[in-house]
Amino acid sequence: MIIKPKVKEFLCLTAHPEGCKKNIENQVRYVKENMTDYNGPKKVLVIGSSTGYGLASRIVAGFGCKADTIGVMFEKPSNGKRTASAGWYNTAAFEEFAKKDGQYAKTFNGDAFSKSVKEEVIETIKKDFGKVDMVIYSLAAPRRTVEDGTTYQSVLKTTGKSFTNKNLDLKDNTLGERTLEPANDDEVQSTVKVMGGEDWMDWMKALVDADAIEDGATTLAYSYIGPELTYPIYFDGTIGQAKKHLHATAKEITKAFEEKGIKGFVSVNKALVTQSSSAIPIVPLYMAILYKVMKEQGNHEGCIEQITRLFTDRDILNNTVVDKDGLIRLDDLELSKEVQDEVNRRWELVNADNLAEIADVPGYWEDFYHMFGFQIDDVNYEEDLEPVVNIPSVEA
Ligand code: NAD
Repeated sequence: MIIKPKVKEFLCLTAHPEGCKKNIENQVRYVKENMTDYNGPKKVLVIGSSTGYGLASRIVAGFGCKADTIGVMFEKPSNGKRTASAGWYNTAAFEEFAKKDGQYAKTFNGDAFSKSVKEEVIETIKKDFGKVDMVIYSLAAPRRTVEDGTTYQSVLKTTGKSFTNKNLDLKDNTLGERTLEPANDDEVQSTVKVMGGEDWMDWMKALVDADAIEDGATTLAYSYIGPELTYPIYFDGTIGQAKKHLHATAKEITKAFEEKGIKGFVSVNKALVTQSSSAIPIVPLYMAILYKVMKEQGNHEGCIEQITRLFTDRDILNNTVVDKDGLIRLDDLELSKEVQDEVNRRWELVNADNLAEIADVPGYWEDFYHMFGFQIDDVNYEEDLEPVVNIPSVEA
C-alpha cells in the first residue's frame, strides 16, 4: 500500500508506519542525548502511552531512565485495507527499540476506564514487576463508560455564557469567528467524569489494594491552564472544570496514601498540537501564533523536550519543584511575559491578510502531519508498504 495522508478537518484517517517509527527513533535519540546517567524510576506504568505527552513519558521512562514499562492505550490495528492508527505504529516502534536495548515493554490495548483492563494490567505488574514505582496518567478521551454501563461524554464548551473570538478554520486555513455556547450542568459534570481525576484515583486504589505499587512511588497526571486569552474556552470552560478536579485529585492521592508515602502530582504542560488539542476550537489559532512567537524567541518545545525537562529540571523524584498551588509548571516559557505580550499583540492584529506573517500556520500543520508519520525527513512516501504491523506484546 502507498500510504498518503487523508485529512478531515482535525483528524487524519491514515498513518504511516515508517514515519511513525522515525518519529520514535528521533525522540529516543533526543532522550538518550539529554538524559545521560539519569537515576529515575525503574518500573513504570503509563496510562495513555501511545501518542502525545503519554508517549513522550514512556520514551523518557524507557530510554532516559532505562525503566521497564507497561503501557495502556486505545488504538486500532490495520485490517490490511486501512492503515493502523498512529498510536499503534508508535507503540510497535517503541517496543522494537526497547527490545533492542534489552528493556521490558508490554502494552495493553483496551479501555483504561474499565475494571477488566485495570485487573489485567495489575495482574501483569504482579507477575512481571512485583510492583511499579511510577504511574503516569495521560489519558485524553472523548468518553468514559463506567461499571453500571452509563457512558459520559466530554464536551468542549464554555461555562456561564457564550464566547466569541477569532478562529482558524482547519478545513481551509481561513480566519473567521467562532462562538461557543455554554454547557449545561450535566455537560459540565460529564466532562469532569471523563477528564477529571476520578479514574486516576480508581487506578491508584486498585494498585494499592493489590499491593502492586512501591511505598514512596510517584504518580503524575497532566494538565493545561494557558493564558487568559483562552480561559473562556479552556480553563474556565468544561475541560478546565475537569482539570481543576484533576488538580484536587493529586492532593487527595497524596493524602489517601500518606502512610505508603505515595505522592500525586499534576504537571501543567505547554500547549502542543496533539490529536486531542487539535479538536478544541479557537485554540489552534492561539497555538499557531504561539508557535511563531516561541520559535522566534528560541524557546519552542515539543512533548519530548517538555517531558525530559519534567524529569531533569523539575526533579520529580526528589525535591519536586512546584508552584504555590503544588503544581509542577512546564508552561513557564509559554506563559512568560515576553511570550504572552507578543502573542496578545499579534492576536489583536491578526486578520485574513496578515495571517501568514503573524502566525505559524504551516508549523501547526507540520506538527499535525508529523503526528501521523507524514512529512518526516528520510522517509520514502512512494514506497509500497505492508500496513499490518504487529506489536509484539499485543494481539491484533
Ligand atoms: P493524545 O490524544 O495524544 O493521547 C491520549 C492517549 O490516551 C493515547 O495514548 C490514547 O490511546 C489514550 N486513550 C484515550 N482513550 C483511552 C481509553 N479509553 N483507554 C486507554 N487509552 C486511551 O493526548 P495528549 O494531548 O497527549 O493529552 C494527554 C494529557 O496531557 C491530557 O490530560 C491533556 O489534557 C494533557 N495536556 C495536553 C496538552 C496539549 O496541548 N496537547 C497540554 C497540556 C496538557
